Amino acid sequence: MDYVSFPFDADAPVSQTLFSRAARVTPGGVNSPVRAFGAVGGTPRFMASGSGPYLTDADGREYVDLVCSWGPMILGHAHPQVVEAVQAAVARGTSFGAPTEGEVALAEEMVTRIAPLDEVRLVSSGTEATMSAIRLARGYTGRAKVVKFAGCYHGHVDALLASAGSGVATFALPDTPGVTGAQAGETIVLPYNDLEAVRDAFAAHPGEIACVITEASPGNMGVVPPRDGFNAGLRQLCHDNGALYISDEVMTGFRTSRAGWFGVDGVEPDLMTFGKVMGGGFPAAAFGGRAEIMQRLAPVGPVYQAGTLSGNPVATAAGLAQLRLLDDAAYATVDAVSAQVRGLVTEALTKEGVAHTVQTASNMFSVFFTDAEVRDFEDAKRQDTFRFTAFFHSMLANGVYLPPSAFEVWFLSTAHDERAVERIAQALPAAARAAAQATPPAA
Ligand SMILES: *Cc1c(COP(=O)(O)O)cnc(C)c1O
Repeated sequence: MDYVSFPFDADAPVSQTLFSRAARVTPGGVNSPVRAFGAVGGTPRFMASGSGPYLTDADGREYVDLVCSWGPMILGHAHPQVVEAVQAAVARGTSFGAPTEGEVALAEEMVTRIAPLDEVRLVSSGTEATMSAIRLARGYTGRAKVVKFAGCYHGHVDALLASAGSGVATFALPDTPGVTGAQAGETIVLPYNDLEAVRDAFAAHPGEIACVITEASPGNMGVVPPRDGFNAGLRQLCHDNGALYISDEVMTGFRTSRAGWFGVDGVEPDLMTFGKVMGGGFPAAAFGGRAEIMQRLAPVGPVYQAGTLSGNPVATAAGLAQLRLLDDAAYATVDAVSAQVRGLVTEALTKEGVAHTVQTASNMFSVFFTDAEVRDFEDAKRQDTFRFTAFFHSMLANGVYLPPSAFEVWFLSTAHDERAVERIAQALPAAARAAAQATPPAA
């Protein structure tokens, strides 16, 4: 991939040096593709520290952070009570390979908040959570096929990369080499928000579909909420056909409400997956659901699943500290500041006559550069991404760090206060102008 030099990169000489060093020892210079600025061009900012709503890069420039580590940092960076819990945990030892009380407390907190969860198993990443949930669904039903939706991202699980969102969407990657036909062949990819397509798939493959997995409310093709009755319809079709309904709440879990998206739509899944917010900025994730299904897991059942660092004491301490601070008042704060920022973005873009649609799922939102409603991945791809690129670089130059892709969520936190919002408001007019003036790249 060619990294074009952008005028604003002059602001980031230290990041540039670090990026060249990184590119010599790490593919593309990054450990997760979306960080590379591949879709927007320029030099990714190497971050040195974070505090509340702000990030400071290696060149000493401060940004209002609207990525929040892609969702987890819902209390802002280095929240004092989370830091304190982590420091106390680290001092007691960092990994024992034996059970600890913290794992029990975190699991109890989760099952208390979310009614359909009888039991959870802790893992270390969202990818591991969805991979394990699918194995369990296949083991439980004795069936092989998995239904997923185009534009939904469930981590980089082999069987789930087909037509995925997030970085796969950002870079317009076709099917990923390295995923064999056998692995992808059991995956049925359907358009999002289309119950008829799901009904047809069940009719075409009677007794073969183990599960339908969906993002509870998708964020990885930008925010594309389920239509009224879509999730309930999925649940019904799964039950009518002996398949499991898996709700992937890695992004929405403990973010869109105390009980995640389940707290918003109340549709009861058979299995659920979590990550991001529940780890408090550490690698902690989980899958869970009805006891009767979860009891098929080793050591009580035959479906194997394990992890050396699963339920790590530092990660569980961070996650538990963060969840305990997330009461109704905290969600009201994030919801309010999200509405405020959405309003400012709409105002600035409207003033410059830039076609756009802001879509929301409680406090998650994204800005599509199109005036049409976005109902699925095909709609999302129809936006003017070149306008986003111009908008992104102007915001970055003026100290606001947005996700470096037009297919991602803008995340807020309880730490985004009046000063942070004021800085976003100051950066918006120039960015809206840049978006208005942007021209499509030569074909
Ligand atoms: C981020 C994400 C994942 C993958 O989680 P990782 O921790 O990055 O492996 C899975 N599903 C959804 C919905 C996500 O947003």
